Amino acid sequence: MSSQRSKQIKVDGPCVYLIHFSHPYQHAGHYLGWTKNLTARLRDHQNGNGARLIAVVREAGIDIQLVRIWHGQRDIEQLLKKYKHSSWLCPICNPHAATHKPLSGISQIIVK
Ligand SMILES: [Zn+2]
Repeated sequence: MSSQRSKQIKVDGPCVYLIHFSHPYQHAGHYLGWTKNLTARLRDHQNGNGARLIAVVREAGIDIQLVRIWHGQRDIEQLLKKYKHSSWLCPICNPHAATHKPLSGISQIIVK
């Protein structure tokens, strides 16, 4: 996440988050993760101490952007991962993502 683009986003409690890559890395265009502390987790990603995928993506010079957050526990992450098509959930890749509610009832934050 470039410092120019990083925003102060405060989320209390556990959440699932979606990160969009400015360019695909091999077959990956997104990262879907779960954390109890989003602020700390994003700091880890920035420092290369988060997920291995994010670290190699950043090493490849690809910009990353937090695009969506859902409140919830790990079961939400597992449900969302079953979709396989993270691009459907991404407001950058899919302009209709905000209204695409595969999991209605789960509160979410669209990051703009
Ligand atoms: Zn995307």
